[in-house]
Amino acid sequence: MDYLCSECSTQLSEFEIELNTKFPIGKLYCEFCQSKWERKIIKQIVDVEKEVGKYEKY
Ligand SMILES: [Zn+2]
Repeated sequence: MDYLCSECSTQLSEFEIELNTKFPIGKLYCEFCQSKWERKIIKQIVDVEKEVGKYEKY
């Protein structure tokens, strides 16, 4: 069975397949797309923390 990135359809390397089976997130992503998603998640966390900081002032 071929493992393709669900974002860009790149064939995944053995290491990437291993990562995806160890940490299943529902979809398979290559390293590039995964880091893209991670950045998105990090940005969301930063935004949430900014919100929290805003409320702590009052
Ligand atoms: Zn990809």
